[in-house]
Amino acid sequence: MDNRYDVIVAGGGTAGVIAAIQSGRAGARTLLVERVGMPGGTMTSGGIAWPGLFFAWHKQVIAGIGWELVTAAVRECGMTLPDFSTQVGMKNHPAYQVKINPVIYAALCDAALVDAGVDVLYHCMVAAVDGSSVTLAVKEGLKRVSAKVIVDCTGDANVAAMCGCELFEAEDCQPGTYSVRLSGYDPKSLDYETMAENARRAVAGGRLKFPDLSWSVSDFSSQLLFSFGNNGNHLWGKKAHTSEGRSQMEIEGRQAILRAYRFLCTQKGLENLKIEFAASECGIRETVRIQGEEVVTVQDYQSGRVWPDSVCHAFYPIDLHNKEHGVKPDPLAEGVVPTVPLGALIPKGLTNVLVAGRCISSDRLANSALRVQATCMATGQAAGAAAVLAAARNCPVKEVPLEQLKELLKRHQAIVP
Ligand SMILES: Cc1cc2nc3c(=O)[nH]c(=O)nc-3n(C[C@H](O)[C@H](O)[C@H](O)COP(=O)(O)OP(=O)(O)OC[C@H]3O[C@@H](n4cnc5c(N)ncnc54)[C@H](O)[C@@H]3O)c2cc1C
Repeated sequence: MDNRYDVIVAGGGTAGVIAAIQSGRAGARTLLVERVGMPGGTMTSGGIAWPGLFFAWHKQVIAGIGWELVTAAVRECGMTLPDFSTQVGMKNHPAYQVKINPVIYAALCDAALVDAGVDVLYHCMVAAVDGSSVTLAVKEGLKRVSAKVIVDCTGDANVAAMCGCELFEAEDCQPGTYSVRLSGYDPKSLDYETMAENARRAVAGGRLKFPDLSWSVSDFSSQLLFSFGNNGNHLWGKKAHTSEGRSQMEIEGRQAILRAYRFLCTQKGLENLKIEFAASECGIRETVRIQGEEVVTVQDYQSGRVWPDSVCHAFYPIDLHNKEHGVKPDPLAEGVVPTVPLGALIPKGLTNVLVAGRCISSDRLANSALRVQATCMATGQAAGAAAVLAAARNCPVKEVPLEQLKELLKRHQAIVP
């Protein structure tokens, strides 16, 4: 393993894996640094293994390395892709997300990273950055490496913040979710009226919280049971971009599962309830957004603005999970396909840092749509490609020639607006 890199990608999640593979395949000396022992982030450790949306209005709008890995995972497991030829818009958009097996996806990511010549350090975080000098916290202690460009794919802009980037944070971030897999019951045979009464009493007695069982903060809902634990609860009120906030989230997430389990096991028809599997950590929807050279607003998003420096598409309804209104996705108008500018991946004023994934520069409403997995993958690939060019030219990331960037992305099967 080398000590001098062209590109270091911090965070090997949804966006970061793609950024690192792009960088490696384009010939840059690349290091991927990941906090946990598995690539894929929210898609694997977070248990949210259904990336979307790659197609819009009958047409593929996001492809490239993310699509290559997702379809490889589908093929490997003999699963099927949704029928994209039937997609006429944003109605029933979850049906057009691609279901994948997280472990197989992670294994395919590992293989692609190694094939691309990327050095991979799992169980490692960036501890400090001083210009091109990067200090890593590895299991043995601190390790010093250098990088011409750093791509921050931590989802939380941890590295951009260390380098002085301004961050935006909502008062009350969207909730996290602790995904589990339940078995041992038939959801159609349960007495939900009685259960709702029992749940209200348990909540009044402090033994249960309504969002332990569903997305509702105010009453009983059968969501957790009907989804067999998949994306079935909501965890509010934690700031998950710091180790302290994230720890509170993990503790509260498991307590929510424990409360739900204790309550449900006492209900008729759930005597044999089992928790077969739990994601290894909470899925996080929202933490911070960077102040970038450009900011994608909800107006830009909903009008399908094509930026002069557009590097990829995005496609998803505005989807802000809100305590008062619950979840009410606001679809895009027919034919609209938003785009993401390179400027939204560049922290304002920084010369050697790019950001990809859910915390790119955007207002809160636009971000509630830009945060989804296919878009994170596309921004990851764009940031990886921009990093390679900046490193090769020894230029600030802002000065990467756009035409060369677009060419490089197309050569690696990305769709560029
Ligand atoms: C419950 C839930 C449901 C969702 N539903 C959907 C859906 O239906 N469809 C969809 O497409 N999207 C969905 N999303 C959104 C989507 O999954 C995420 O927004 C997206 O995966 C985020 O990608 P990312 O690369 O920004 O972050 P992540 O995938 O979380 O990756 C960040 C990576 O960085 C690592 N890391 C963090 N900090 C550090 C550090 N300091 N140093 C090194 N490594 C670090 C993490 O371990 C992780 O691997 C959902 C999200 C949640 C939580």
